[in-house]
Amino acid sequence: MDAPLLDDAGIAAEAARLTPGLVDDVVRLSRIPSVATDGFPVGPLHEAHDVAVDMLRAAGVQEISQIMLDGMTTPTIVADVAGPPGAPTVLVYTHYDVVPAGDDALWSSPPFEPVVVDGTVVGRGTADSKANIAAIAGAIRVWGARPPVTLRIILEGHEEFGSSYELHPLTSPDTYRADAMVIADVGNVRPGQPTLTIGLRGSVSVTVEAHTLGTDKHSGQFGGAAPDARTALIRALATLHDDAGDVVVPGLLREPWTGASYTQDEFRDLADVLPGVPLVGTGDLGSRIWSGPAITVIGFDAPPTTAPLNAVASSARAVLNLRVHPGQKAAEAGEALGAHLRAQRPFGIPLEVTVGEAGDGFLAKTGGPAWHAAERALSIAWDGAPVDTLAMGGSIPIVMAFDEAVPQAEKLLFGATDGYCNIHAPNERLLIDELTRTVVAMAIFWREVATALDTTDEEA
Ligand SMILES: [Zn+2]
Repeated sequence: MDAPLLDDAGIAAEAARLTPGLVDDVVRLSRIPSVATDGFPVGPLHEAHDVAVDMLRAAGVQEISQIMLDGMTTPTIVADVAGPPGAPTVLVYTHYDVVPAGDDALWSSPPFEPVVVDGTVVGRGTADSKANIAAIAGAIRVWGARPPVTLRIILEGHEEFGSSYELHPLTSPDTYRADAMVIADVGNVRPGQPTLTIGLRGSVSVTVEAHTLGTDKHSGQFGGAAPDARTALIRALATLHDDAGDVVVPGLLREPWTGASYTQDEFRDLADVLPGVPLVGTGDLGSRIWSGPAITVIGFDAPPTTAPLNAVASSARAVLNLRVHPGQKAAEAGEALGAHLRAQRPFGIPLEVTVGEAGDGFLAKTGGPAWHAAERALSIAWDGAPVDTLAMGGSIPIVMAFDEAVPQAEKLLFGATDGYCNIHAPNERLLIDELTRTVVAMAIFWREVATALDTTDEEA
């Protein structure tokens, strides 16, 4: 017999009751430095894997397997919970690896010694994305491991660094067959504002080089006529933006952003912009950071200022990161940037341009039955607040792979990671209230989507 459907109040009460235990789990998991980046030990990744499995088992999940491919150092966890016969399948994804802590000195407490303080948990990985593992386990507990949908839980250990796993959905789409997907690696634009993420920008890197002399030459003897490769390259890079800071490379898509966004003050605060320094670009903030291109110089070869060299540079190289409108093919955008740079002849000097790896962005289909189910669930979880939409400047490559493998499944991006969590930065923190509400949202979403996607009546 099916378990009875819980009502909103019952789910909220159960989530509140479970919260202290879930916080303990976040602390336990975040104490493990499960950094997937090359050069970090793999032991902690396996340890985090084991704790995540343990959390699922403790929540009542019995069927747990793993995917381990060549090129992976830590397996992807696949956990299944059967729903009532005929119930739709919901795939829920997040990850147990984290990015490195960076400079420990910038943290208010040691990054891998998580502390609970003022309604938060501070530590690397607490928000991105160990809180979401706790939220998933919590929602399963709310339903007593008898959810109204069939669940397939995917917990990856390679999200932050990338691995051969990213292609698995394309080679084994059956593993990911679902009626709807929850990607719990994101969260609200700000605490208290329920948000569905509908766009992720694509990304492509472009390398540009200038070669001017057979070897470096004395700047006193030759400077003034011998072309300095670095100066030439800087001149070319200066053509990418106009005086206001907007990207002026032809062929890059930019559209107005119509969903939620940050205020200028909020954004200044989040980006830690120094007083007196203006933001760059014009137009609405959303179109600058989400539905428009951004170009950043992420590498530039030059002697450090502590060891300068009195020489005209014979060659120079820069690596650019181009962020792309979610709906534009990243490779196409990379070629547009490449064509722009090739057309530059700083001081008449030709440039060598190489367009590197491209990762497409993601644009969610909105307005379907699962979308509306998620809207209802999030609104209820955040006390009736209307749901807003958000995009993210960064990409989640696995989402693109899911979308390609199972295009018909609606993809809902929500989770416990709010815009103030300092993810990938010092003092990463999780807001415990957001965790509780994410458990509520997840549990109610499963109930709502079970009804919305119910096909059992149609066959009668
Ligand atoms: Zn993440």
